[in-house]
Amino acid sequence: STNRNDKEKGVNVQVILRCRPLSEDEARIHTPVVISCNEQRREVAATQSIAGKHIDRHFAFDKVFGPASQQKDLYDQAICPIVFEVLEGYNCTIFAYGQTGTGKTYTMEGGARKKNGEFPSDAGVIPRAVKQIFDILEAQGAEYSMKVTFLELYNEEISDLLAPEEATKFVDEKSKKSIALMEDGKGSVFVRGLEEEIVSTANEIYKILEKGSAKRRTAETLLNKQSSRSHSIFSITIHIKENTPEGEEMIKCGKLNLVDLAGSENISRSGAREGRAREAGEINKSLLTLGRVINALVEHSGHIPYRDSKLTRLLRDSLGGKTKTCVIATISPSIHCLEETLSTLDYAHRAK
Ligand code: ADP
Ligand code: MG
Repeated sequence: STNRNDKEKGVNVQVILRCRPLSEDEARIHTPVVISCNEQRREVAATQSIAGKHIDRHFAFDKVFGPASQQKDLYDQAICPIVFEVLEGYNCTIFAYGQTGTGKTYTMEGGARKKNGEFPSDAGVIPRAVKQIFDILEAQGAEYSMKVTFLELYNEEISDLLAPEEATKFVDEKSKKSIALMEDGKGSVFVRGLEEEIVSTANEIYKILEKGSAKRRTAETLLNKQSSRSHSIFSITIHIKENTPEGEEMIKCGKLNLVDLAGSENISRSGAREGRAREAGEINKSLLTLGRVINALVEHSGHIPYRDSKLTRLLRDSLGGKTKTCVIATISPSIHCLEETLSTLDYAHRAK
């Protein structure tokens, strides 16, 4: 919400809700739908009535995007204003939060790319943000420099999705290049050993994104669906040179973090198998801490528990203070997902 009150208090957290359509398979077998979205009233209702058990719950959000909403709708209405803030020198973070299979990656990255040179209509938040940033900078004739990083957080360990191939083979856990989270004297956090790619065109970023995502998918098949249990963070840092009316040179620096979070089902269902116990615990730690941090920011509580997880330590300079945060909570309309959907709605709702 961008009302004046929030601005005065220096906190700006927006929570939006997106419900995907039924898949073709789900539609073919007439999967019952238990979610209804009212975009105008910005409300979502979860209703079910079977065997004497009634569920009828309503949730309000800053914005609601129903199953028919298009990538462009979500971008233009919710994300575009945030990108303007980045170019004004703010640090902003956009999270996709939700159960695996509800559209986090679709929302952030987009569907199958068409290779005919045109901008694909199902392109997600990241390619659209990249395009908008370059369009604006070029229209302004601005002098700028830009760099990107792309990392994955798995089991509280960071791996670099932009590192050269050999360095990040996931086949052998031990051969993974170790990347450390460091703190400087002033409490600022940085990642030692992380590749930073300097970019000067949108196409360069698309290629980097493609490469990083492919790496993430490879890891997924090798390590049994790793991506549902890992967070990925794509960050764009922009320095823009400006001249003040007094003729002085000034550098404005903004940063945009685009975060595809681990599947939220990890929060409620801890891994049953032995080796998964630690993993589930660590995923819980990051997702639960993120919820608490956002909550503390919204409620202006004195203590913000950034230090309790690597995810929140990593994003510390982009959460709270002079920053903007947007959580996109994604859900499925299917009756079979209702339990998870309710926990997503509760989590996202609490973040307000
Ligand atoms: P997640 O990243 O949350 O696990 P995905 O983004 O992989 O989920 O989405 C699961 C499937 O649903 C994919 O095939 C994706 O293309 C499709 N999908 C998700 N959201 C939408 C949407 N809003 N419209 C159309 N298809 C969608
Ligand atoms: Mg995904």
